Amino acid sequence: MRSLSGRTVDLLIIGGGIIGAGIARDAALRGLSVALVEQEDFASGTTSRPTRLIHGGLRYLELFDFALVRSDMREREILLRIAPHLVFPLPFLLPLYRPSLWYQAKLRIGMQLYDILSLDKSLPKRRWLGREETLAAEPALDPDGLQGAWRFYDAQVPLVERLVIENVVDAATHGALVLNHARANSYLRDGDRVGGAVVLDRMAGVELALRGRLTVNATGPWLDRTIAPLRSGAKPLLRLTKGIHLVTPRATQQAHVLFARRDDRLFFVVPWLDASIVGTTDTDFDGDPAAAAATEEDVRYLREEARRAFPNAPFDEIFFTWAGVRALVREEGVSEGEVSRKHALYDHQRRDGVAGVVSVVGGKITAYRAIAEEVTDLAARKLGRDQRASTAEAMLPGADGSRARAIAALAAGDPSLATPLCPHHHGVAAEIVHAVRHEWALTIGDALLRRTALGLAPCQGLDCVDAVAELMGRLLGWDAERRAREIAAYCREVEPMRRFSVK
Ligand SMILES: Cc1cc2nc3c(=O)[nH]c(=O)nc-3n(C[C@H](O)[C@H](O)[C@H](O)COP(=O)(O)OP(=O)(O)OC[C@H]3O[C@@H](n4cnc5c(N)ncnc54)[C@H](O)[C@@H]3O)c2cc1C
Repeated sequence: MRSLSGRTVDLLIIGGGIIGAGIARDAALRGLSVALVEQEDFASGTTSRPTRLIHGGLRYLELFDFALVRSDMREREILLRIAPHLVFPLPFLLPLYRPSLWYQAKLRIGMQLYDILSLDKSLPKRRWLGREETLAAEPALDPDGLQGAWRFYDAQVPLVERLVIENVVDAATHGALVLNHARANSYLRDGDRVGGAVVLDRMAGVELALRGRLTVNATGPWLDRTIAPLRSGAKPLLRLTKGIHLVTPRATQQAHVLFARRDDRLFFVVPWLDASIVGTTDTDFDGDPAAAAATEEDVRYLREEARRAFPNAPFDEIFFTWAGVRALVREEGVSEGEVSRKHALYDHQRRDGVAGVVSVVGGKITAYRAIAEEVTDLAARKLGRDQRASTAEAMLPGADGSRARAIAALAAGDPSLATPLCPHHHGVAAEIVHAVRHEWALTIGDALLRRTALGLAPCQGLDCVDAVAELMGRLLGWDAERRAREIAAYCREVEPMRRFSVK
């Protein structure tokens, strides 16, 4: 933090979700000097609450947004290539029940288009499976009225949190200064120009002025709040909608695209780690994004619809839920589901007469690399630099197995670190040590939820939280009182996720 004080970086990025992290990496790889600040932890916002798909999105075909689907499919291919350790092909089934001729034709065209828009892909093409073949692939499906299913391929990023961390790690390796638990509280102003931000390091309780030639606001659903001081009284830029997911025992063998009987909305049931994800919902939201949580109505809706498709699957048992807030570009007069998922880039000089700051919002995780490239292109132009992006080719860190080697080396040096911490998860103590030493894990939540997958097991690490606090405390100098506070903070952090957990 101190090293930042008094320096002026080319780019000060506010917000460490996938978009801010992607911009930090792209800009650092181009040789720009970069600072990235995140008020909580990297990936703690909307980015850690998605369906975890890297997809073109069948749904967007219905909105005739072919250009968006095409560009997301291209990005899917790039991510499969540059992050083979984090992004994996995922076969889907789209089952059909007593479909009308019109519906069959519509889906056939949709499937054809999905393939045409990704002609250059490495994934297999669509295929129609008859009734028997479908039931053999997915015995849990309700057989009543089943005609067959379309099989098609998309991709999954099971640990999207790690996708963010690897972007941040690479940015830091290329010189970026990165700070989590550091909130931008106000802008540094010089008349009609923003020259950076006043940032509170929440761990140290210290405020610092961070100067940037250009400030990028990448605060996702917080944008209207964080940009308000620069555009007082102006109309909101965003429409926020909430989406929740249920995490249940493994319910199906395949990933499924389904249509809710109640409102015909598309939703997914997807195998994830050792569990299943059911989601999502889409309801207008006007609270603080940090407080978003599943409600009884959300849970009932998903549970009922999932049960209709898989009558005997274990949807009664919920391990936990998560709720995320979409930051959609505001369009008047359309329903939640019809608002475009495309991102927007706001140049506040043009829009609000304030120079030195741009905002980026919306778009999917799938598109993050391309969005980051577009933002960094704009930044480079404004800064008079002409380096081009290399992120479509440069592999993300860890793709070569280096993370596994680093953990193994730690465990070889101290065999006590090779022991699993939790009776329900294979994660070992060395992963926590690595997260603290090399990946800015400063709280138990950082380590369990966003560096390792321990907090994503059904118990969410609550059975080993004392051991984790002990281990982190040794590395970070926590006394007994601080350890107790950190444990309490972790319990508070996961509480909204556990309101529907079956004990
Ligand atoms: C229910 C749901 C399902 C989704 N499913 C998918 C999917 O399957 N595939 C897909 O591609 N996309 C999906 N998305 C979309 C995707 O999750 C988002 O588009 C993406 O995560 C947005 O990233 P972001 O970095 O803009 O926002 P965020 O991840 O919210 O990051 C913004 C960050 O800014 C920080 N911040 C706010 N204020 C400040 C401040 N003052 N100072 C410092 N930091 C600050 C926040 O703490 C936060 O971490 C889904 C979204 C939702 C809601």
